[in-house]
Parts: sequence; structure tokens; C-alpha cells
Amino acid sequence: MPPALIPAASLLTGAAGFMSWAVRGRSSAVFAPSVWRANPGRNAIALTFDDGPSESTAPLLDILARHNIPATFFQIGANVERLPSVARAVRDAGHLIGNHSYSHPLFCFRSPSFLAQDLARAQDTIEHHTAIRPSWFRAPFGVRWFGMRGVQRRLGLMGVMWTAIGYDWKLKTDDVVHHLASSVSRGSILCLHDGRELRVQPDVSVTLEAVRRLIPQLLDRGYQFETVSRLLCPTN
Ligand SMILES: [Zn+2]
Repeated sequence: MPPALIPAASLLTGAAGFMSWAVRGRSSAVFAPSVWRANPGRNAIALTFDDGPSESTAPLLDILARHNIPATFFQIGANVERLPSVARAVRDAGHLIGNHSYSHPLFCFRSPSFLAQDLARAQDTIEHHTAIRPSWFRAPFGVRWFGMRGVQRRLGLMGVMWTAIGYDWKLKTDDVVHHLASSVSRGSILCLHDGRELRVQPDVSVTLEAVRRLIPQLLDRGYQFETVSRLLCPTN
């Protein structure tokens, strides 16, 4: 490459790197307000579950109930429509319900009106079936895009990413447990899945077993489990 082109090339690489972080980076708030961890002042953490409700949400609720642990469920509107009684069981067990879009699309390269319609439809669907209108939003695939800021503001949604994600859709149980147990610290928000996008009867057995093993380990280490809302706004 001629020397004169090197600065231009590295500028382009830098711009591409920035854009990739802006869209998917856990700490990015470029496109919309977003949090990814809480103040480490307290020994508290939050378990979050995306992509439900599914046929496997009930066994997860049993595990959480056994330890009396509250969690946050970022539900997909279309799945709530398919399994409204499961969505209500999550609510009735005292967990927090957040918005994870209506149809779980990849938001990059979509128009602001598409974003607005999908998120509003999720809000309306979740409220219709559970009487809860979410205040917290997790972007599908963690992807934020142009227009998200205005949509979140109009719907009163705060974005929530994660401190650590379990990769529970592709790793073995041992690796999910090890990765999360070694990543967690005070104020962490952990991301797992009780569904697989819009799939019917998804296999989330790795997640269930990982949660079964993780909770006692983290309790032994003195962590207290809270909903995202309580973790981020402890005085509310
Ligand atoms: Zn998802």
C-alpha cells in the first residue's frame, strides 16, 4: 500500500471498529440510553433471561422459586401472544418483565418507523396479556440502530445490555457455568435465555442446568439476587 493511503486505511478501520462497538458494544449508548452494569457498591447482581416465554420457562421458574430468587425476563411479544399464561406465571412469581421486541428482528439497516412499530407492538402485547407495561428494553442480538433513542424515549424504555452473557445457545453447561462464575462481580447483570427467538419448544436444557448449578455457587460467594430495576434503582 502506498504510504499516503495508510492513514486513510487506518481511519476507515477505526471508523468500522467504532461503528461495530456503537451497534453491539455492551457499554455503548451511542444510539440510545443503555446500561450494562450497576454500581458495585452493593454485593448484588441480576439474572436476566431473554427470548421467552417458552415451554421451558416453567421449570426455570421452579429453580428460581426453590432459592426464592427474583429475576428479569425480557420477553418477546410474539412469544407472549403464543404463551400468555406462561408470561403471566412469570409475573405472578414476582419477576420483572422487560421488552425484547415483538418479532426479534435484527434492527440494523431498519427504518426508525420499523423500530417504533416493533417495540410498540411488544409493549402493547405484553401489557394486554400481563397488565404490565415494561420500562426496560433489551435489544435483540444486542443490536441498537439509528432511531432507537427517539423510540425508547417515546415508549419510556431504558436499554439494558449485560455485564456477562452465558452463550448458553452454543456452549456446554460446564463452560456456561465457568464463564459466568468467573465473570461475575458486584453489580453484574448476567444474560441467559429461556427461549430461542421465536422457536416453539426450544431446547434450553443447558440454560436450566447452568442456572441450577450457578445459583448455589453465587449464593455461597455472598451475592444477593435482584431484579434489574431494583439493582439499578435500589432506592425506588
Ligand atoms: Zn434475544
